[in-house]
Amino acid sequence: MIPLEEAREHILSRIETLPVRRYPLDEALGLVLAEPVTSSDPIPAFANTAMDGYALRAADTLGAPVELDVVGTIGAGDEGSLHVGESQAARIMTGAPIPPGADAVVKVELTSPADGPGDRVRVEATVKVGNHIRHPGEDVAAGEQVLTAGTVVTPGRVGLLAAVGAYEVAAHGRPRVGVLSTGDELADTPGPLRRGQIRDTNRRTLLSLVSEAGFEGVDLGIAPDRPDDISRAFEAGVADCDAVLSSGGVSMGDFDYVKVVLDRIGEMRWMQIAIKPAKPFAFGLVDGTPVFGLPGNPVSSMVSFELLAKPGLRAMAGHSADDLGPALVRAVSADELGHRSDGKTHFVRVSASRDERGVLRVVRSGGQGSHQLAAMTRADALAVVPDGARPGMGDPVDVIVL
Ligand code: AMP
Ligand code: MG
Repeated sequence: MIPLEEAREHILSRIETLPVRRYPLDEALGLVLAEPVTSSDPIPAFANTAMDGYALRAADTLGAPVELDVVGTIGAGDEGSLHVGESQAARIMTGAPIPPGADAVVKVELTSPADGPGDRVRVEATVKVGNHIRHPGEDVAAGEQVLTAGTVVTPGRVGLLAAVGAYEVAAHGRPRVGVLSTGDELADTPGPLRRGQIRDTNRRTLLSLVSEAGFEGVDLGIAPDRPDDISRAFEAGVADCDAVLSSGGVSMGDFDYVKVVLDRIGEMRWMQIAIKPAKPFAFGLVDGTPVFGLPGNPVSSMVSFELLAKPGLRAMAGHSADDLGPALVRAVSADELGHRSDGKTHFVRVSASRDERGVLRVVRSGGQGSHQLAAMTRADALAVVPDGARPGMGDPVDVIVL
């Protein structure tokens, strides 16, 4: 058995970041920028009001309450041809440009319509120069670099890119990830199964994990346990995808032909990793394309994805070495999470909840068998329990939040 860290380093040493492409902004969420982004203009570009109210001269409010002549109304989007003179005010809506002559805004709540003829407003409070005015460049200066190369595009950054007019971005490629199931026992139909059959769950779970992680999933179907079929499926996958994930066929069984085939068509390394679940694992290149051979048991394939495949795919997508995951969160055990020493780090399925003091407490979430997918789905984290460690009630434990 080899340590998890060694398997991970092996993968990362052989993975290359995908080439840079230009993406329309609508497809940029989750991508890693390959070039810095600069704003040519200041944001805001013009002085505008943060409140609905009246634009006026602060000096006119000194003896408040005061009454001022309303010279007109300025809405958001108006270019504004009004000028505000002494004892005058302009009705103004949030986001509208401050008219020349005005140096402050009083919010509508501090005003009331004045009695008498004409459009006049009564201002109840004295305001200072600049009150409720957003100044040009307050958020971004002209020429400022708003995003550096290597930044991950988050929802807010999609908005920021739009704000600076970057409707196309240069980013590292979003990996296209093929997902293949292997096994004669696998069925993919709703009807009754014959004895010996099970439904293929891994392909759907892995495709879902792939898209949740921000990659593009490609369904490569199910290959039966026949070398020719397996070989054809992998060859089609590596021709069409940036990486391929397969599940099953990597352990010690007589029909584990994935091993035989991948050794023939690729350069693979077969590993027994000192973890439970997900001990058997393979990684290598087929025609230059990374192939991850995940174990067949449903829980194992998910854990293997989180610990090994996802970090590798994130590296392909241009994420920095310290941001490949999985992220560890410190929690406290509220259970007996230990195991007898077997040389492996255990990833224990746990339920996590915060106690009244805000501390994250974890308890076993049920069955720990690597075939027990339903029990896995009741877990919201994996507790990382090093070999022989016996975290009991109140002991600290690191968890991977699922
Ligand atoms: P294998 O590594 O192919 O021997 O598979 C190990 C276990 O995982 C067996 O019980 C398989 O039936 C099961 N298994 C393999 N592939 C899948 C799959 N795609 N969906 C659900 N179970 C699977
Ligand atoms: Mg199999």
